[in-house]
Amino acid sequence: MLKRILPAAGVLLGLLVFAGLMTRAAAQIPAVATVFTTKEMPHILIDAGHGGEDGGAVVGSVLEKQINLAIAQDAADLLTFCGFDVQMTRTGDDALSDEGADVKQRKYNDMKQRLALYNASPQNVVISVHQNKFSNASSHGMQVFYSPNNDKSAVLAEAIRRAAVGMLQPDNTRENKAAGKDIYLLKNTVNPAVLVECGFLSNREEREKLVTDAYQKQVALAIATGLMNYHNTI
Ligand SMILES: [Zn+2]
Repeated sequence: MLKRILPAAGVLLGLLVFAGLMTRAAAQIPAVATVFTTKEMPHILIDAGHGGEDGGAVVGSVLEKQINLAIAQDAADLLTFCGFDVQMTRTGDDALSDEGADVKQRKYNDMKQRLALYNASPQNVVISVHQNKFSNASSHGMQVFYSPNNDKSAVLAEAIRRAAVGMLQPDNTRENKAAGKDIYLLKNTVNPAVLVECGFLSNREEREKLVTDAYQKQVALAIATGLMNYHNTI
């Protein structure tokens, strides 16, 4: 019985923490989302970048893929709680494909699988979660990229940027950028889609925050708030 009660208590506690964060967020930004609307709810696909043998950016023992998954899962939990239909590309430390003779081929197959999920339904709205790394260790702050193929992508990117600036990073002056061909998934999806580089692992101060459960939840809340505001805008 205890085994049953503990997870339930954990979920309840999590929701209370999120509710507390939501209340704080509402006090900090001028127009937090009205969560429940009569509009048709889009299908949200949250893509935790990398996974399996592809760790993404690595700094010491910090692996991008782990932070991506934690933030993606928190955002998925929040949006599910708020009534959205949410799917994740991965929920464990796995690539989406392990077929291929070498790393490059397996990476290509992984990307093909992700793209198939991005485009699986015209109702999909896609949020891809990543962490940045740069040679200049002073670079920090969230950066949002958007797909150039669907006008709604830029609207979603701006909603997430504004939520992050309002709730987390008041000094962040980074502007959203249309994805070039180096961001294969955004360049090739037909649905509204953004890629959120949540922060720079190459910046020590930001890295030390990004590995914490509390900050991961705050970033997830900013992403989810942006999505909800986007949903109310379109
Ligand atoms: Zn990445």
